[in-house]
Amino acid sequence: LGPTVTVGEILVEIMATTVGAGFLSPQPLVGPFASGAPAIFIDQVAQFGGAAGIVAAVGADDFGTLNVERLRTDGVDVSAVAIVPGKPTGSAFVRYRADGSRDFVYNITHSAAGDTSMTAAARTLIARGGHVHVMGSAFAIPGIGAVILEAVASIRARGGSVSFDPNIRKELAQGDEGRRLIDDMLAVTDLLLPSGDELLVAADAATEPAAIARLLDLGIGEVVLKRGSAGSSHFSRAFGRVDCPAFAVEEVDPTGAGDCFGAAYLTSRRAGLPPARALLYANAAGARTVTRQGPMEGVSSREDLERFIAAAGREVK
Ligand code: ADP
Repeated sequence: LGPTVTVGEILVEIMATTVGAGFLSPQPLVGPFASGAPAIFIDQVAQFGGAAGIVAAVGADDFGTLNVERLRTDGVDVSAVAIVPGKPTGSAFVRYRADGSRDFVYNITHSAAGDTSMTAAARTLIARGGHVHVMGSAFAIPGIGAVILEAVASIRARGGSVSFDPNIRKELAQGDEGRRLIDDMLAVTDLLLPSGDELLVAADAATEPAAIARLLDLGIGEVVLKRGSAGSSHFSRAFGRVDCPAFAVEEVDPTGAGDCFGAAYLTSRRAGLPPARALLYANAAGARTVTRQGPMEGVSSREDLERFIAAAGREVK
């Protein structure tokens, strides 16, 4: 089993500490926190005990160092993280609205992340890879899409597998290019990890059962639907439907829940665990993530998850 690999943006997140205030006047901020969906995902893979590596680019600055050292310490292979001279590491400033929604000021496209390319180190990592996890959001950054598609083709050609978190906004999927991208990805996906309505958008279907049928007909091995505080469901021809209720927790910061969920699920399945057990670990990983502020601060080791599951009085049937 070669490592799980992600390709995409690494950044820091800096957060407002007051709700509703916005960035129109000075206020205390908290951060920088290590972030970027591919980075959160791969850090959770490594923390859970899976072999993990990332293809990315950061600037020669503290934000880049903070991220790379964090990933390295947590067990991620960072040999394919390029340091781009003259460009900053990406950043995102986050503030919370009174209704609980978030607003971002991003500097990613023009950051070092925009220079992500298929370097010799990236080729070497991908040549060893056994699985690649793809996030729809990474395609929004110019240049990264081509590297992702090359990684997918290369890993599949050697018998590896592919997971896809569509991470799509409806508007994006409605454009011809967005639709083509989703269809191209669905054709090569072994494990699809949509969240909420993304299921219907990805499958271009009106109802959940129609969407699942269409996706399994396409040859996707497993569809795992993330339902936020309502838990998650697995669908496959081999195991049918398996539901797993969420853990009751108080949500502090939802950032990273879907990524930690996906990473725990994938790594459990790659380790040979059945869907019911993988869903339990994944729900626990998602739940623990939302109780911590900061995108990567809620990642869990397998032991953390086992303690959390036991404390909640849950076990797999
Ligand atoms: P995404 O972040 O991709 O939109 P979700 O919000 O559905 O994904 O979160 C992923 C998983 O994390 C959920 O399926 C659930 O297991 C867990 N989770 C998310 N929010 C909560 C919550 N408020 N309480 C308990 N578990 C949660």
